[in-house]
Amino acid sequence: MEKHMKLSEAIREGSKTTRPLRGSMYASCPRSEADIDRYPDGGLLATHACALGAATHHARRLGVLIDASTLKTFPIIDAQVSYPCACATVSSWTALGPLIVHLNDTHTWPREAIAEWVETIEKLEEQRQVTIAKPEPVSASAEPVATH
Ligand SMILES: [Zn+2]
Repeated sequence: MEKHMKLSEAIREGSKTTRPLRGSMYASCPRSEADIDRYPDGGLLATHACALGAATHHARRLGVLIDASTLKTFPIIDAQVSYPCACATVSSWTALGPLIVHLNDTHTWPREAIAEWVETIEKLEEQRQVTIAKPEPVSASAEPVATH
């Protein structure tokens, strides 16, 4: 079991075992013998999934979906990001999760393209966290220096 799964990777992997879907997270068809082989854990019926659905589908298959919560499994979906399309109205920033749904449903981006875009967000977030984690540089003039 992977300790940390990237959202982009989960979208990519989930897209390999489901067909694209607009308008809802999952859709399923009656299970056939072939499906039982495909989903050996026995608890999965999804045959179609949107980009986020594909990610949770994959996380569930690997047993890393936390409390059935997409947000807890992939906290990055809460990150504030700018629109990659021209649809920004009041603000040019919004949460990543709803934006993924928007790209999937409104612009019918292929899930692989969404995964690629999400990967650029993940790289930016990693850089941001590295920056935050850096200790504050100590300024030589900030502290009074004892001179005796
Ligand atoms: Zn848009």
